[in-house]
Amino acid sequence: MDIRIDNQSFEKMKLYLIEQFKEKHQTIKFNHKIYRFLIKKLRRQLYRQQIAKERDEKLHLEEIQRQNDPLYQAWIIHKENIRIQKEIEEEEENKKARKLREQREQMEIQRKEQLRKEMEEKQKELSLLTITVSTHNPFAPIQVTVAPSIERPVCSFYLKTGVCRYNERCHRTHNKPDITNTLLAVNMYSNFEMQYGLDDEYDFDIGLEFEDSERYENFKDFYYDVLPEFERFGRIIMFKVCSNSEIHLRGNVYVQYETDYQAMQAYKALNTRYYAGRMVQCQFVNIPSWSAAICGKHKNC
Ligand SMILES: [Zn+2]
Ligand SMILES: [Zn+2]
Repeated sequence: MDIRIDNQSFEKMKLYLIEQFKEKHQTIKFNHKIYRFLIKKLRRQLYRQQIAKERDEKLHLEEIQRQNDPLYQAWIIHKENIRIQKEIEEEEENKKARKLREQREQMEIQRKEQLRKEMEEKQKELSLLTITVSTHNPFAPIQVTVAPSIERPVCSFYLKTGVCRYNERCHRTHNKPDITNTLLAVNMYSNFEMQYGLDDEYDFDIGLEFEDSERYENFKDFYYDVLPEFERFGRIIMFKVCSNSEIHLRGNVYVQYETDYQAMQAYKALNTRYYAGRMVQCQFVNIPSWSAAICGKHKNC
């Protein structure tokens, strides 16, 4: 045991220990054996303290050496730089996320506002149209159309096609709908034969080479000319053109939209406008079945 402690201090500590022991164990008679035990205990204690002190000093020395090592310093700086860089990046990420969230919220608000405006606009247009519809004549008030149907039978031709050869003179009831998703542009389509009433001479069933004929080309021109006009107001479900020779069906264009609103928009924009030198007259019709509206007697009707 190498204990670097001067004898004077050792003596002091030894006396203190003996004193303590005697106080604690007053009934035990102090003897040489106890004395030796205490000395041993003191030496062990001092030895442990010495070891601990040396270890601490060694660690301290190592730490100092490390601090002075340029490699270690470089590593510390590098680590610090990484930490700072990470902090900056995290801050940046947070900023981006915050901005994105704000943008999304802003967009959501705008979208709602837009929707609200559109609804308002729609309401306005709806009421506007109701006024035009009720002040102008083409749509009879409901009471007038409903009442006669009780007494008079319904005109099946009108029911199927929205038109009737007898028009207002028909003895049967024509139930005129208010607003529907289907628009009828009366006699909008015309070609040479139709224009000069020559189509009676044609039998469509015999017109085998219809697709190559001028008539077909004429119809194609009309189709590609007019369809986009109608498509401006919404998706079209059904687009039909009558080439019948019957005067009330002749050149009728039926356009069925997805919604009443789209049909209304088309009505407002196209009714009484001129196409190919003739005024376009539109009306809302209710076609319960397209297959029933087609007579089926002709090849291309
Ligand atoms: Zn009729
Ligand atoms: Zn037909």
